[in-house]
Amino acid sequence: MADLLIGGQWMGAQSGATRPIRCPADGRLVATVDEAGRTDAEAAIHAARATFDNGAWPQTPAPERGAVLWRVADLLLEHKDDVARAESLDTGKRLVESEYDVDDVAAVFRHYAGLTVSGADAGRVIDTGQPDVVSRVVREPVGVCGLITPWNYPLLQTSWKVAPCLAAGNTFVLKPSELTPSSAIWLMRLLVEAGLPDGVANLVLGAGPEAGAPLSEHHDVDLVSFTGGVVTGRSVMAAAAATVKKVALELGGKNPNIVFADADRETALDMALTAVFLHSGQVCSAGARLVIAESIHDEFVDELVARAEAIRLGGPFDEQAETGPLISAAHRDKIAAYVADGLAEGAVLRCGGSTPDDPQLADGYYYLPTVLDGCASAMRVVQEESFGPILTVETFTDEDDAVRLANDSRYGLAGAVWTADSGRGQRVAARLRMGTVWINDYHPYVPHAEWGGYKQSGTGRELGLAGLEEYRETKHIWQHIAPQPQGWFGGRK
Ligand code: NDP
Repeated sequence: MADLLIGGQWMGAQSGATRPIRCPADGRLVATVDEAGRTDAEAAIHAARATFDNGAWPQTPAPERGAVLWRVADLLLEHKDDVARAESLDTGKRLVESEYDVDDVAAVFRHYAGLTVSGADAGRVIDTGQPDVVSRVVREPVGVCGLITPWNYPLLQTSWKVAPCLAAGNTFVLKPSELTPSSAIWLMRLLVEAGLPDGVANLVLGAGPEAGAPLSEHHDVDLVSFTGGVVTGRSVMAAAAATVKKVALELGGKNPNIVFADADRETALDMALTAVFLHSGQVCSAGARLVIAESIHDEFVDELVARAEAIRLGGPFDEQAETGPLISAAHRDKIAAYVADGLAEGAVLRCGGSTPDDPQLADGYYYLPTVLDGCASAMRVVQEESFGPILTVETFTDEDDAVRLANDSRYGLAGAVWTADSGRGQRVAARLRMGTVWINDYHPYVPHAEWGGYKQSGTGRELGLAGLEEYRETKHIWQHIAPQPQGWFGGRK
């Protein structure tokens, strides 16, 4: 086998180790892939370093780099069926969702292809007030980038890093989640097919502490960009400190979905379900905290519970399914523990709270959509990111109370406010300490707008112009065109 891409060569792990990949929907074996260790990761870093220092990619004119990205988008759409199928088999998510993801990924590549041609800040000339001086501020690639990605949106999260990283002229080593490597392998194949020079894109598959850790520790890596859990994010940041490399972190959230009494009831209900139960809650921006006006609580939550109970679970190719399994047995155990914890702290179980009893789902890691009512922001199940199909419900009395509750979190990734009062929507949005706020909507994003978190949701931004700047250094070049001795020393001044 040869699933690792190092210096333009597909190869196996030096140890010969492999890992079985199983579909979380039914446990079937979908692939057996090479399992990199530290030495493989270090070889990939050396390849990326040599290619950055000696290769042509960083100096390739930006529009030519953009042309490669554009070809990648075309190839992704050409191979959409295969890529989406691979993603669904690894993650268990519905095929149609993986197909949307491939479309989104193509749009991300096209966005950054476009920026290389016209939209990126190419630098500026400074007027120093000195006629004999030419002063320029220029943008350059950062160098070698370590990219570490999670299992929930494997290809999409990867594209948010790979596309701007390449647009800026960097080389990289990618380490996807050990659970979901297949779409990363696909992407590497397509990058090669699109004409990316050898050694620019390198792929190592394997466990975080072995294949991933060198990307944050190694002195030859200039930037590490990580998406995943806050605990791992802290260790990545701490490891990166030893070599003072640039760090970008996207660490998820515990996102409030605030519903005022004047909101369009039907839309707010429908979207409250989508906010939290899409992809079984395994979404960093999931609206896992319903923060609802006291006056409409009973009626709203009764209807929400009825609809949550009717959600159909099933595997990627079950056309009747509305959402799928969790990623692993361990993750399902974690969800069950959060529910037990919430109940012990006084939450009221309104629906779910267990695995389904449908024998057809017995081989997958399913968990029923769960609503915990009567929650308070101090509860662990409200504060911590469960990353599963658990909705907690808190009530507020007025606008100030809603804002106070919503901000009472160590996270600050995203949130939404539902109201018919446009002024209130804007007021509340301005007061929420979050990287994204939706007013009368939930979940949409576009590649042109920045994405990222306040507080412990992370540091840095992906997407948008800031998502490109993350991968660039700024240099000031000062040229004196008629240099003369200053005479500062030697008594001449
Ligand atoms: P992790 O944060 O552990 O993993 C994310 C990535 O980091 C994976 O590629 C992982 O590899 C890698 N990694 C793990 N340890 C290290 C390390 N020491 N150095 C470098 N890389 C490392 O996420 P989990 O998959 O364990 O999920 C845990 C929780 O994280 C979830 O329950 C959820 O709360 C949150 N999460 C948030 C996401 C988001 O989008 N913000 C996405 C996924 C998870 P490996 O796969 O081998 O562990």
